[in-house]
Amino acid sequence: APVTLRRALISVSDKTGLIEQAKRLAALGVELVSTGGTSKALKDAGLAVKDVSDLTGFPEMMDGRVKTLHPAVHGGLLYLRDNPSHVKDAADHGIGAIDLIYVNLYPFEATVASGADFETCIENIDIGGPAMLRAAAKNGAFVAVCTDGGDVDAVLAQAEANAGAVSHALLRRLAAKTYARTAAYDAAISGWYAKQIGEDAPDWAAIGGKLQQSLRYGENPHQKAAFYVTGEKRPGVATARQLQGKELSYNNINDTDAAYELIGELGSDKPAVAIIKHANPCGVALGPNIIEAYKAALACDPTSAFGGIVALNRPLDEETAKVITEIFTEVVIAPGADAAAEAIFAKKKNLRLLITDDLPDPATTGTFVKTVAGGFLLQDRDAGRIHLDDLEVVTKRAPTAQELEDMLFAWRVAKHVKSNTIVYAKDGVTAGIGAGQMSRIDSARIAARKAQDAQETAGWSDPRTKGCVAASDAFFPFADGLLQAASAGATAVIQPGGSIRDDEVIAAADEAGLAMVFTGMRHFRH
Ligand code: 5GP
Repeated sequence: APVTLRRALISVSDKTGLIEQAKRLAALGVELVSTGGTSKALKDAGLAVKDVSDLTGFPEMMDGRVKTLHPAVHGGLLYLRDNPSHVKDAADHGIGAIDLIYVNLYPFEATVASGADFETCIENIDIGGPAMLRAAAKNGAFVAVCTDGGDVDAVLAQAEANAGAVSHALLRRLAAKTYARTAAYDAAISGWYAKQIGEDAPDWAAIGGKLQQSLRYGENPHQKAAFYVTGEKRPGVATARQLQGKELSYNNINDTDAAYELIGELGSDKPAVAIIKHANPCGVALGPNIIEAYKAALACDPTSAFGGIVALNRPLDEETAKVITEIFTEVVIAPGADAAAEAIFAKKKNLRLLITDDLPDPATTGTFVKTVAGGFLLQDRDAGRIHLDDLEVVTKRAPTAQELEDMLFAWRVAKHVKSNTIVYAKDGVTAGIGAGQMSRIDSARIAARKAQDAQETAGWSDPRTKGCVAASDAFFPFADGLLQAASAGATAVIQPGGSIRDDEVIAAADEAGLAMVFTGMRHFRH
């Protein structure tokens, strides 16, 4: 049934629009009851207001910690108007019904955001406000619960058109909204508190997304799938503009993401291209220009590049577009494309072209989610970055400047390859990538074999691994993986270090004449 408004309790921290709304309530004949600051504001505006302390017979006390926590308030909010024993209890104790409550809470979130100290944040945890809101919403069939000015406007619009009455449907909507507000408020408090004691976890609310596209199917045709976006303003597959081509598939989205995150990792100093298959790079190269970078990336593993995803860190130009269309490619993603390049692509109807405004910043974190049976894991996106100064040389021979440059390049690529990872690189080009093996030595072997295949295809006199560097995403548990890299032709190695057999591994490196650096950071990726 609708509820006719007779008495309203208003207790608001944010007093924006308050006076005008209170005047409209008063004009409907609604009695106004209010707490200290709110009451003063209303009185100053010439409105008749009753203080909550008159209702409770208690003064507001303890710096406002206790204002409305009293049966005269909570009884008035909670008693069931159609239950005779509740009505009798209310009458026996002189408790009057409260039909509308307008509470906006102490600004806890804003206080935290302002960088306030612990005590100030604690003092900004509203107690009485949420208590009243939750009580009123529990009795939401009889009380109009307003948590912001918009709610008051909605109630006023109905009441003014219906002789002070508010519909059951609106009451229901307001009650439901109230619990969302108090839940979010408590979540903010618990998140802040966990941080204070060093136990903060990534916020699951960050993954709450909006449906962007329902997909024809998932990873396989018998799986249903959809693409949700979080609203994160990160240049990449979720925010790119698709200029042409078929709708992206589940695997396209996954692979394009892997490709562009890797390109972001390499930055924009030098033209760079990454070619991705099944979320792993099969060729990555820096070059004097984008077309040379593409050709070099392709030469790493032309077999695997077939049907791949290509990411560039420079706008696509006509000549590069021509070369890319020479083989079957699923998606190209770049921070721009010129008209001539678009015209070349237009002839390949199925090729998808995605354009972003910028490259993703590898140093900014976000939330990463992975499901497991019965739950999901959340972690920060891997924003770990290693720079030259972070490297610790552990061998007798120090790396040359060129080796150092290639090591950082190989390391950054390795971060975007499924574990276990070995990446060989030379002169800013991957020479061989060993991805996703259960043993590091197998990854090293596969990477070397890829380099030999590329050599055969291109007719080079040596595989690119001759004189290359090797990057390992995690430490070498034994010397065997390292020796495998050396036998493939690596002269320098970059790896996290930290194995209990580091001494053995370093001794083996010294014996083989390798230069080796430790990063102190691991980049597992599964
Ligand atoms: P006012 O400016 O009217 O003095 O205070 C309004 C604020 O006090 C509102 O944000 C309301 O949620 C909060 N409030 C109302 N009752 C209580 C209470 O009993 N304890 C605390 N800590 N806050 C309250």
